[in-house]
Amino acid sequence: MSDPVTGGSPAALEHGDLGLDVAECTDARIDIVLGDPDLMARVAAGGAFGGEYSRPAAQAMFNRHSAEAVADVRAKTRIVELAPRSWLVRLPIVNSAVFETDAGLVVCDTGMAPGGPALLEAIRSVSDAPIHTIVYSHGHVDHAYGTWALMEDPATMAAGGPQIVAHRKVADRFDTYLRLRGSLARYMNQPPHHLPASRDDLVWPTVTFDDRLELEIGGEALHLVHHPAETDDQCYAWMPDRGALYSADYYQGFLPNLGNGKRLQRGTDDWVIALREMADLGPTVLFPGHGEGITDPELIRSEFTLLADALEHIIDHVIDGLNRRMRKDLIVDTLDWPDRFADHPTLNVQYVTPRDIARMVIKRWTGWWDDIPSHWAPAPLTEQAATIVALAGGIDPLVERARSLLDTDLPQACHLADWAWYAEPHHPDVQQLVVDAYRDRIMDPSSNTQDILVYLDHAAAARALQRRAEDPADS
Ligand SMILES: [Zn+2]
Repeated sequence: MSDPVTGGSPAALEHGDLGLDVAECTDARIDIVLGDPDLMARVAAGGAFGGEYSRPAAQAMFNRHSAEAVADVRAKTRIVELAPRSWLVRLPIVNSAVFETDAGLVVCDTGMAPGGPALLEAIRSVSDAPIHTIVYSHGHVDHAYGTWALMEDPATMAAGGPQIVAHRKVADRFDTYLRLRGSLARYMNQPPHHLPASRDDLVWPTVTFDDRLELEIGGEALHLVHHPAETDDQCYAWMPDRGALYSADYYQGFLPNLGNGKRLQRGTDDWVIALREMADLGPTVLFPGHGEGITDPELIRSEFTLLADALEHIIDHVIDGLNRRMRKDLIVDTLDWPDRFADHPTLNVQYVTPRDIARMVIKRWTGWWDDIPSHWAPAPLTEQAATIVALAGGIDPLVERARSLLDTDLPQACHLADWAWYAEPHHPDVQQLVVDAYRDRIMDPSSNTQDILVYLDHAAAARALQRRAEDPADS
């Protein structure tokens, strides 16, 4: 969901010893992609997250001041009435849900920062009522950062302003975003200066809860129920009187983002519990945080049940492997993925694979050690790499061997490219190998969105060093 082309620069940190700065890595990333239409198309394909894509917004998820992003989201936003007085707002990448009650509007999630104005306009195209309550389903940037625009709505502010309801840990998340803004910029591929810098850059919850909160708004019940899943601050919103469920990110219309290697621990068993609980509520209309709404009660139930079964299948496999004392990589490699999951359209792999999810489940139950004894207290990486290069008979044979594997065993070619890189990053043949190997890896049909982000960042670091060599005065 972040923009992979011009996002923040992981390489500046990852390769800190090389002295690459954010701008250099961004330029290198653009350089690699813009000169290569196939690569451009491949890189752009994965970011839509079940909706329409907006490159300007994905490049500026935290930034309400990007006129280009605000305009692009405005042009691509539409609002769909799924039930009486109940709408799904299809912003690019992410949704918001709007429910009109006799006391005013309930708005579940507010999109990315540049999506705020489009959300308000979509709301005003269907209702003049003031916004009574805003619910944050969780504190992620694509769900809770467009609120600033709603706080400028005259009808809403004349009525006293909205209450903003969220799980207690959303505030903790906001604090973390302030504290770790450099790290987040890296792992979310955002320009570092876009990240919130002070408490005033965020619109904080005014009402918080722990496990469950039951509100009555305009004579109607609104139940907010927490289970850790995509985040530890997530909840779904259930309006029993109209059978409407806002399912946040528990259901995403594709294999959910439970195995993202850049993110802190995600819910595992609790995700399954939430799905089964939501299925048992018997919703008649589903408003998901991403993707299309569903108005067929049987389909809602079967979708939730199948996703719960799929996640439980992975969790059971991991627990069984851990109890049988299997090495962690073998637990991941031996995960089977039955056809009823693999072939199901809303379990398709866009962002993470079943194996990535298995890794996150392993992390839930164990420590950081990967079970390989030398990795408990490893030699410095550059020294390991130098030994591998020496064993190979020098950098030339290593590069040659890696190149010979590009067509037949791309993962192994990338392993060799890594050893070459960590040993001799300034060698021109190594730099070109890294660019070529990871370009091929991006183009490989089996690479998903998260894979592509990792590979492009690494290729960009190599390209940045090439650009320095081409024009030393520039560096
Ligand atoms: Zn989301």
